[in-house]
Amino acid sequence: MIIEKEYECCILGAGPAGLGAALELAENGVKDIVIIDKNKIVGGLSRTEVYDGYRFDVGPHRFFSKNSEINDLWRKTLGNDFIPVERLTRIYYKNKYFNYPIKAVDALMKMGIIESTHALLSFFSAQITKKNIEAQTFEDWIIQKFGEKLYTTFFKTYTEKVWGIPCNQIGAELAAQRIKGLDILQVIKSSLQFKTSKNIKTLVEQFDYPRKGAGQMYEAMADRVVEKGADILLDSKVKSFNRTGNTINSVIIEDDNGNEIAIKAKSYFNSIPLTHFYQLLNPAESSSIKNAVDALYYREHITVNFIIDGVDIFPDQWIYVHDSNVKMARLANYNNFSKEMVNGKNKTAVSVEYFVFKTDDLWSLSDNELKELAMDELSYVNLVDKEKVEQGWIIRETESYPTYYLGYQEHYDILKNKLQQYINVHPIGRGGLYKYNNQDHSTLSGILAARNYLQTDGSPYNIWNINIDAEYHEDAVRE
Ligand SMILES: Cc1cc2nc3c(=O)[nH]c(=O)nc-3n(C[C@H](O)[C@H](O)[C@H](O)COP(=O)(O)OP(=O)(O)OC[C@H]3O[C@@H](n4cnc5c(N)ncnc54)[C@H](O)[C@@H]3O)c2cc1C
Repeated sequence: MIIEKEYECCILGAGPAGLGAALELAENGVKDIVIIDKNKIVGGLSRTEVYDGYRFDVGPHRFFSKNSEINDLWRKTLGNDFIPVERLTRIYYKNKYFNYPIKAVDALMKMGIIESTHALLSFFSAQITKKNIEAQTFEDWIIQKFGEKLYTTFFKTYTEKVWGIPCNQIGAELAAQRIKGLDILQVIKSSLQFKTSKNIKTLVEQFDYPRKGAGQMYEAMADRVVEKGADILLDSKVKSFNRTGNTINSVIIEDDNGNEIAIKAKSYFNSIPLTHFYQLLNPAESSSIKNAVDALYYREHITVNFIIDGVDIFPDQWIYVHDSNVKMARLANYNNFSKEMVNGKNKTAVSVEYFVFKTDDLWSLSDNELKELAMDELSYVNLVDKEKVEQGWIIRETESYPTYYLGYQEHYDILKNKLQQYINVHPIGRGGLYKYNNQDHSTLSGILAARNYLQTDGSPYNIWNINIDAEYHEDAVRE
């Protein structure tokens, strides 16, 4: 027999979006809240896994936002446990390390005279021949801004590793969302260090990070909502959304003991992937919805986490690997985020990231095969001595990156428009909205959806547009 539970608000997913919604509801008097997540710990993609006392995020997670409300929330949640980190991130290309974000002088010097002349000529030619036609693809957008040579050197390989499709099949909005407003003159000025004040730091130079990893933020937020009376059911997977017309009557979940529980609620805040929401609907939607669901897809992500004997292996927080001879896309050194990631030991926590589809051979490699591959690739870039690797753990994460392939919008709009007809569903978060959001915008989507429910002054907010208007976030001055 199915157990039944009733709540006022049911939140699907205990990541930044779900916890943002829960906190806003709980702090505004809603006591009857349940948060459900299939993982054993909170934080979603922003969680921190602990192995043998060592801490690893799901890929490195820095905290940065132009939104002052989110910055206040983060600081209030962790206080002194939220520490500023001096940023160093570089690009590995042809055995050299280039500063990232790109600094003109650094890049031109390291590229050598021939390549840098080529880059400058192609940059100026792109400015002269600039067409008044809006770029449709990621490739066109970058070439229009930076020229062909800088595009092939600093954007193409990494972007294609991340998304798994050629840059001329990725929509321009990906670049516009992430690189909007980037002024090449600003890049040149900053690389020549023309600064107005010595003390002003930007998000390029410094970011914040919880002492014990990104997940510490969400563990603290979860503690706060539980103190206010909310229930959190972990290790519990949503199996179906039962509906009558455009109203969800209950959500069926399966807990860690295999028990099925029907959760009835007045409102549902959903951060589980948009495509899964439709796939789990009972009864299913029409075949046109099913076709749109089938047309959208996410990119999967593998992190190979290693503990290496010794410290000071490389100074960066992370390195983008623009080398097509290796499959890895990025590697991170958690010691350079916070010493507490290795518990103060004389060890280094390094992660190697791969972006994959489930149909790729890489996805079905065993843990040991993945560790071997990652160790070989670390040796190839001359950063880690294989002999010094002591332990390794793998995280395989599905639906990590909603894909903005060329033409996805038509299918996306069908799903978005249909979901807007649902009376008691608030879609939130990266997967739930199918938006390439960072933590700040994911959290904000939860908070604003809660305000829509609470009918707070200023509501209703358009949750679907949250990161569309975001400016390029690298150049913001820190508050
Ligand atoms: C490799 C990588 C690096 C990143 N780096 C950064 C960074 O540096 N800075 C930054 O700000 N952001 C970064 N992000 C983005 C950040 O992780 C996300 O924006 C954020 O975690 C999204 O929060 P969310 O709550 O919307 O979704 P999620 O974090 O995905 O949470 C959704 C939750 O729903 C749960 N769920 C899914 N399906 C079910 C089901 N059927 N039943 C029950 N529960 C379910 C999941 O377990 C998950 O906990 C990165 C993301 C990745 C993948």
